[in-house]
Amino acid sequence: MGLQIDIAAIVANWKALAAKAPNARAAAVVKADGYGLGAARIVPALYGAGARDFFVALAGEGRAIRPLLPDDATVNVLSGHMERADLSGLVPVINSAGQFFRDRAMRPGQPFAIQLDSGMNRLGMEPAEWAAIRDEVLAAGPSFIMSHLACADEPEHPANAMQLRAFHEMTDGVGVPLSLAATGGILLGPDYHFDMVRPGVGLYGGMPFADARQVVRLSLPVIQTREVLPGEIVGYGATWTADAPRRIATVAAGYADGILRMLSSSGASLYADGAACPIVGRVSMDLVTADVTDLDEVPAELDLICPEQPIDAVADYAGTIGYEILTSLRHRYERHYL
Ligand SMILES: *Cc1c(COP(=O)(O)O)cnc(C)c1O
Repeated sequence: MGLQIDIAAIVANWKALAAKAPNARAAAVVKADGYGLGAARIVPALYGAGARDFFVALAGEGRAIRPLLPDDATVNVLSGHMERADLSGLVPVINSAGQFFRDRAMRPGQPFAIQLDSGMNRLGMEPAEWAAIRDEVLAAGPSFIMSHLACADEPEHPANAMQLRAFHEMTDGVGVPLSLAATGGILLGPDYHFDMVRPGVGLYGGMPFADARQVVRLSLPVIQTREVLPGEIVGYGATWTADAPRRIATVAAGYADGILRMLSSSGASLYADGAACPIVGRVSMDLVTADVTDLDEVPAELDLICPEQPIDAVADYAGTIGYEILTSLRHRYERHYL
């Protein structure tokens, strides 16, 4: 089966997040090839569901999806107008005064948007920089003005309210559509919604959207099973030793496929029809070993990502976040789109 991606679930998640912000347009963030799941399949489906505003990180990603979309959709590039970027048909989200002047010199009259820094200190114009060119920017007619929250997945974090206040201070009365919330910000409530929301990870079944429909199932073919005796080791570094007769299955995927090596003996399991088979020994480049002793019969495939162990559970075992699990799923898998 390989990597199964449920496009209908992505569409359902987009609709559910859009419904949480009924007074805002719901955009869709499809950077990093749709969080690793295949922007070329996801973008037309979301357009069909009503999405008209798409976000990517880089101009090259934007050029890849632009031909898949009719003219009434926009493709916004979060890195803005970098030098030598080919932005034809795209909307750069301008992050600095330098980008603004470059963009107006090279693309006069063409659409652009603005990113302000409301406190995350990653991208966007700071208050003083914005104040200095604000009138000139507004006269040039930006499509929208946005900022991004650093801690939206922690509703109680004081940075949320601080950033909200900073965004208001920089934008109240500008008369241009505003956008602040990604997935986490949508869940913070209507104060954060403004005119457009920009969900990403929630579309793909990731936290903090706890009610998301799961999108990914990852099934790995079993190549071989063997019996090991008490005292025998499994895998590189001999990090696991059988304490009793055990049955070990070896599946055909490893860290080269985005199954992070941190999952070695982490408590994570491979699943056989809902039954947990603990990963034992080290994850290697192309192989993972699991203890299947308790199964009556070893199936042809074992699942790493499945309803019993969704992406955020895998992420917890690996000491990371669902976003990194998704974007680590590389292209060696056979992909099936539902
Ligand atoms: C990645 C990103 C998003 C989407 O964030 P999620 O947490 O995945 O919903 C929205 N806006 C900006 C600026 C981003 O970089």
